[in-house]
Amino acid sequence: MSDTPQKRVRVRFAPSPTGYLHVGGARTAIFNWLFARRMGGDFLLRIEDTDQTRYQEKALHELIADLKWLGLNWDEGPEVGGPHESYFQSKRLDHYQKYARQLVASAHAYPCFCTPERLDELREQQKVNNLPPSYDRRCRNLPADVAAQRVAAGEKHVVRLKAPFHGNTVFKDHIRGIIDTPNRVLDDLVLLKGDGFPTYHLANVVDDHLMEITHVLRGDEWIPSTPRHILIYQALGWEPPVFCHLPVILAEGGGKLSKRKGAASVGDYRDLGYLPEVMVNFLSLLGWSPGEDLELMETDVLIEKFSLDRIHPKSAVFDEKKLEWMNGQYFLRRDVDYFMPLVLPLWEKAGVNLAAFSPEYVRRAVELLKDRSKRLPDFVDYGLYFFNDPAAYDEKTRNKHFGAGSAELLEGLIAEVESGEFNAAALEARYRAFAESTGRKGGDLIHPTRLAISGMPFGPGLFELMEALGKDAVLRRMRAAVAAIRAGF
Ligand code: GLU
Repeated sequence: MSDTPQKRVRVRFAPSPTGYLHVGGARTAIFNWLFARRMGGDFLLRIEDTDQTRYQEKALHELIADLKWLGLNWDEGPEVGGPHESYFQSKRLDHYQKYARQLVASAHAYPCFCTPERLDELREQQKVNNLPPSYDRRCRNLPADVAAQRVAAGEKHVVRLKAPFHGNTVFKDHIRGIIDTPNRVLDDLVLLKGDGFPTYHLANVVDDHLMEITHVLRGDEWIPSTPRHILIYQALGWEPPVFCHLPVILAEGGGKLSKRKGAASVGDYRDLGYLPEVMVNFLSLLGWSPGEDLELMETDVLIEKFSLDRIHPKSAVFDEKKLEWMNGQYFLRRDVDYFMPLVLPLWEKAGVNLAAFSPEYVRRAVELLKDRSKRLPDFVDYGLYFFNDPAAYDEKTRNKHFGAGSAELLEGLIAEVESGEFNAAALEARYRAFAESTGRKGGDLIHPTRLAISGMPFGPGLFELMEALGKDAVLRRMRAAVAAIRAGF
């Protein structure tokens, strides 16, 4: 064991607000957040907005709203501030320019005056000769004093890193192990652009250093950038953080995730009625597992179990069916109070005048529906009969349950409903006795009654549903069904 105390863990989520927060980005944020919370460290949100041509104000607001919805609070960053303000890279240009200058002064970087036209020509030639595009390092050979004079005279230029010609750049990824890149494939990348803005590479390294980031957890599409970052760390004499590149998330049946393949933004899943804790639970399992046969984990359990050592490099598959299943499981676990503020606005939006019903009745409707629902819109799609008499009967099952003799059967059942105590247990007992005395099975009575009172082929337990709807509504609806059957619907 080393004597030096372990550094406080500091991680960051560093999105570029150029579009919506997709599930891959959310997974990266979740892993960083879980790790920070597990280690009692800090989770930073840093906005990488130096590509002003692609920046979208709306995307930034949505991103912040999505992170909040997921419950991923940050210790430093936009809105909360922190000791390393600003957390917007576009407001930190001085830092990047300072280190670019320092790299030029120490001969690790150089100003490059090649015009875009020259670079285009170069690329064309390389294409014709079947060579990979790379800068031919022409300005690297300019004497330093000549270059400095041209800069001082205001000539337009970029700043490029002097990548070594020989040898290899090696780093140890915490998940994949040693990654060894021959330096000849790392050309002299641009650090600072002509307009004084940094490239992603320079800004990312400078900020990770200044913000004292200890671990970089990011998608594995960034692996090719990491050796370049290592070169920048070396040139500045800084110690790089620990790198953990998270495995790619594939769509079902293989291939990349895309909007069309079901994988949408976090906001889309919210609109589809998934719970934020479910998204966190589900996404945490894309590339990580707790090492025991456990899938349903509330956020506090995830925090307790999360470790970098159990992130695996194998690609993960985004299984929508599993997500839906998981949501349903959380619906079973959550109580009615949890759902009230989520469901009532949906019903109001669907045109229900909730004020016309007692609070107890509305609450009971939520309670009965939640255990059969998988997503929040199910409360609307399969639950409005609590407030409206059915205007139609499920077409798929209507001929089966409303066939010959059904009207007479329902009339017999109406008499039973009318004849005694009206509660679930008493109704069930009378239905059972009726089935026995007429030689029918329970289902022969239950299905037509359910269809009559709800218009639906499935739903909460029938007798509980009848009790909840109340005697008047049940009788009115059963009589309406008899009339509809006689009229041929
Ligand atoms: N701004 C980069 C992104 O949009 C950050 C990558 C990184 O974490 O280094 O994903």
